[in-house]
Amino acid sequence: MTSRLDEARAALQKTFGYDDFRPGQDEVIGAVLDGTDVFAVMPTGSGKSMTYQLPALVEDGLTVVVSPLIALMHDQVQQMRAFGIPAATLNSTVAETESRETWRRIRSGELRLLFVSPERLLMDGCMDALRGAGVRRLAVDEAHCVSQWGHDFRPEYRDIARARDALGNVQVLALTATADAATRAEIAERLFPAGRAPQIFVHSFDRPNIRLTFAPKDNPTRQIERFLKHRRSESGIIYCSSRKRTEQLAETLRNDGFNAFPYHAGLDQGTRMRNQDTFLQEDGVVMAATIAFGMGINKPDVRFVCHADMPNNIEGYYQEIGRAGRDGLPADTLTLYGLDDMALRRRQIDEKEVGDDRRRVERRKLEAMIALCEGATCRRQSLLAYFGEASGPCGRCDLCRGGVQLVDGTVSAQKVLSAIVRTGQRFGAAYICDVVHGKESEQIRRNGHGQLKTFGVGSDKPVAAWRAILRQLFAAGAVAENTDGYGSLSMTEKGEAILFGREPIQLRPDPEPRPETRERRRGPAARDDEALALSEADEALFQHLRGLRATIARAEGIAAFMVFPDRTLVEMARQKPVDLWALRAVHGVGERKREAYGERFVGAISEFLAHQAAG
Ligand code: ADP
Ligand code: ZN
Repeated sequence: MTSRLDEARAALQKTFGYDDFRPGQDEVIGAVLDGTDVFAVMPTGSGKSMTYQLPALVEDGLTVVVSPLIALMHDQVQQMRAFGIPAATLNSTVAETESRETWRRIRSGELRLLFVSPERLLMDGCMDALRGAGVRRLAVDEAHCVSQWGHDFRPEYRDIARARDALGNVQVLALTATADAATRAEIAERLFPAGRAPQIFVHSFDRPNIRLTFAPKDNPTRQIERFLKHRRSESGIIYCSSRKRTEQLAETLRNDGFNAFPYHAGLDQGTRMRNQDTFLQEDGVVMAATIAFGMGINKPDVRFVCHADMPNNIEGYYQEIGRAGRDGLPADTLTLYGLDDMALRRRQIDEKEVGDDRRRVERRKLEAMIALCEGATCRRQSLLAYFGEASGPCGRCDLCRGGVQLVDGTVSAQKVLSAIVRTGQRFGAAYICDVVHGKESEQIRRNGHGQLKTFGVGSDKPVAAWRAILRQLFAAGAVAENTDGYGSLSMTEKGEAILFGREPIQLRPDPEPRPETRERRRGPAARDDEALALSEADEALFQHLRGLRATIARAEGIAAFMVFPDRTLVEMARQKPVDLWALRAVHGVGERKREAYGERFVGAISEFLAHQAAG
């Protein structure tokens, strides 16, 4: 007798063309098929959607998927259709005739997946009609939106429980990628019926294919250009903290020959959608975006995510870098951070009109982010520890590879603190560092600060080194920003303890004079990662297949990865299947896609091989 899970596995292979479940998927799907309520915390890229897609495919009945963003639903419906699964969405952008057809399919029992926003679900007409048609399961995606302790609070999520009750005795499945203990407790309480505890699964947050690198800002544009230098044909996202910066950066990168676009909420809808579509549908597109870009982005082959400015908190950071490498292939990240970021974020939280509890939560989250940036031990280890997971050093992050041995920085710190105090605690970082280094600027002369005992005590180190020290003092809370709005700094109690020798401080060693990030090998095959590395000949075939994929995607108006993801093309280039039978063995080739695109791909491979033999 085959179990229902075996049946689901067979469907995974047949319909999706995947070999097996990803770690953790099987136990969640097993529980869903058993009919119990399920609450699953699984990292981005672990294949959460499959936990409702697959049950909806192998069982009759309708699964309603509540999701926060319309863009996301559209994408998911397209993806489901590409796999041949009856799916639809109802929202304000769907034409009348189309929703009528959707309702017909719901009533006839033909539709398996319905994607809706919470607002839509709660409309009287919608809820009544759904109750009439019968709903088997309610899947709540991005479930952390229900919690005010989370970082994405959406008040409408609070009403999902009402819909759940109105729909009758439906099974509930809640999914999220990020939730600390408080958020988890709130999700469990608000989404599941009282007295019916869900089965809870919390899976590892480890994403071993994503490499983590942090660097203090020195010249951010140059740093980003260096990072991108050998990534010309790859797609990636650069997150910026302001709209203006996304536009500047996109323009700079375009001038460098990258296919780069800006994305932020202030762009007109047409431009925004066009840029997003380009990113989704074409290869090698760089998006310079605010965090408005992302929730709807299910592109599996994003090869890098860069933060041009420090993220607000670790949850956001994790979610944003999590958009890289969802196909499981190696992906890279670079996070830049500076004193300016830290000061700005602290100020924003202070000025926010929220209750004290909320402010405390946000402060704590920000300080954890700063600690991660300034940390001295494995990034991945620190990141996982934040989510409550123990792990060993990853061996691949910047700290594992470069290693930072903190040194006693008390004397240097005292020089900086003394300069702050002696200049009256009313100057910004640049000025303070000039005083310590002993730079004779016009302003310093005018203020008479050239006469100070502290002036030039640090002439042995470059100004950049003093900035790094001051940034770390700020991060450690020894220095704080004044409220004058000019970025002037003063010494805190902790700073005083350091200045008067009551407390030592450990700092990073001084930065190298020109901090070049280590260059990687050159050329298109420069990917030093085993899983993506192809021989020169296979790389040519891979590029050839990518071209075919782009042609098909454009003709059908869908994203390239919906035709086949990179990983599938890499395997095709390696295995070179020349008939439909051989194509079956390739990862990501399910029945439906083999039927739709198989001939063209094996045709292209045969042709390529014939040319090669001839040439
Ligand atoms: P998330 O957990 O971030 O919501 P998704 O559900 O979007 O992740 O899945 C990410 C990608 O992984 C999708 O392209 C999906 O089709 C793919 N995927 C899901 N399950 C598997 C599997 N068992 N084997 C291979 N790929 C899978
Ligand atoms: Zn590491």
